[in-house]
Amino acid sequence: MSTPVDSKESDELKCTCGLPAKLRVSKTPRNPFRLFYNCSKGIHDQCGYFHWADESAATGDRQTDELNLIRNECIQLQRRMGEIEEEHEDEKTIWNEEKSALMSQLSTVQAELDEMKKRIKMANESDLMPPVDKFSKSDDEADDAIIIHTL
Ligand SMILES: [Zn+2]
Repeated sequence: MSTPVDSKESDELKCTCGLPAKLRVSKTPRNPFRLFYNCSKGIHDQCGYFHWADESAATGDRQTDELNLIRNECIQLQRRMGEIEEEHEDEKTIWNEEKSALMSQLSTVQAELDEMKKRIKMANESDLMPPVDKFSKSDDEADDAIIIHTL
């Protein structure tokens, strides 16, 4: 919803879309509970507008405003980086949990494998198995020769 504002421009902050900027609360570790304005749209549709509520509003001077806008964009980028870092911290915790779960599974499997190896070794040592002959391989070769002849 865009409500046209006839009164003084500098009174109400507008985002790049031209919509009245929305006051929000920062949740980043760097700026916890700091108030800021940004686009009123949903997080995925937001324009790049960002403005700390405790920093100077638009001056009306184009160059100063543009500089402020660039500075705000830098702040927003830092904020986003902070958020990404935070997200990765969460992921790191999940990954570490998964890793330790996998590691314990792996050690269980390794223990089972060792047990199986021991049993195989014991079985081999107790009843002597006949060694595997080569004759099966020569059988295959004979079969191949027959196939070639029939073609
Ligand atoms: Zn916007």
